[in-house]
Amino acid sequence: MRGFLDIAPFTPKEDAHSLERYPRVKPPLDILLCAPRGFCAGVVRAIDAVEKALILHGAPVYVRHEIVHNKYVVESLKRKGAVFVSELSQVPDATRPVIFSAHGVAKSVPAEAGERNLFAIDATCPLVTKVHREAEVHHKRGRHILLVGHAGHPEVIGTMGQLPAGAITLIETLDDVAALEPPADQPLAYVTQTTLSVDDTREIVAALQARFPDLIAPHKEDICYATTNRQEAVKRVAPQVDALIVVGSPNSSNSQRLREVAERAGCPAARLVLRTDEIDWSVFGNIRSLGITAGASAPEVLVEEIIDAFAQRYDVRVETVSTADENVFFPLPRELRGEAAPTAAE
Ligand code: SF4
Repeated sequence: MRGFLDIAPFTPKEDAHSLERYPRVKPPLDILLCAPRGFCAGVVRAIDAVEKALILHGAPVYVRHEIVHNKYVVESLKRKGAVFVSELSQVPDATRPVIFSAHGVAKSVPAEAGERNLFAIDATCPLVTKVHREAEVHHKRGRHILLVGHAGHPEVIGTMGQLPAGAITLIETLDDVAALEPPADQPLAYVTQTTLSVDDTREIVAALQARFPDLIAPHKEDICYATTNRQEAVKRVAPQVDALIVVGSPNSSNSQRLREVAERAGCPAARLVLRTDEIDWSVFGNIRSLGITAGASAPEVLVEEIIDAFAQRYDVRVETVSTADENVFFPLPRELRGEAAPTAAE
């Protein structure tokens, strides 16, 4: 199966058109490529789940919500036969698979799928599921839960939807911590969204602990390895470059956080860019060094396109700056681990 990760190594391209537009002698540009960057294990699993469902069951395969927050990925899967819906009521045929996105869903969603007898497959990232289970355990033990996260993000909607209304209070800012009036008769515990800024979250948690010294913390950090590692690499690169590009979608939480991390680490210009046509050359047209990273839902092919665009204007030298090795792998949802039935011709 050919997936998003099967791509050729980067080679800058120059065509006749670009040679006309850009001079032979180009200014030098040092590109520092952050590593790790791009796809995380949860995103690979979610995309593979849709592709495997298409192989096993044919088109259409329904997907509730964007499977991951990247338009390029979504459009590619649409071309292969995936149909994206915002609610299960939009799935017309109960015999077709319907996949839940990597961000996770409220308990009401699998319940509705069960009532309608839909063929549901859950591609929630196991690290999001871990947060759901933590919240459930706290609730069972009579604790009120504080969820540090961003209102309206699908992961936050999914986590809050694991428990009855009122069991979880969302905390977005330090002001929320100051204004918080939790139930007086319950111990307090906190969980977090997986894709937050490590530094911002540390501040918010410190403020919570200052107000509520008995606050119960997760056994293991909820911000996931991929979010943490991508932010660390950006912190290393950002102070060394004139500008930095985060390849990713505006609705991708971890991509937005990478841009903020770059700015805070001292990069004069950090921008989120999905495709080359979004590069603002008034910002990137006169620089000597550039950092590039990619959010956890951005495929490497888009990073290559961006480097290509710079190679048309600059004499680029690409160096990878690596701050961590990643070898995390999540197996596919159980329903998709089988082989496709052989066709008559095989
Ligand atoms: S960013 Fe983290 S939590 Fe989200 S899908 Fe990737 S590994 Fe899972």
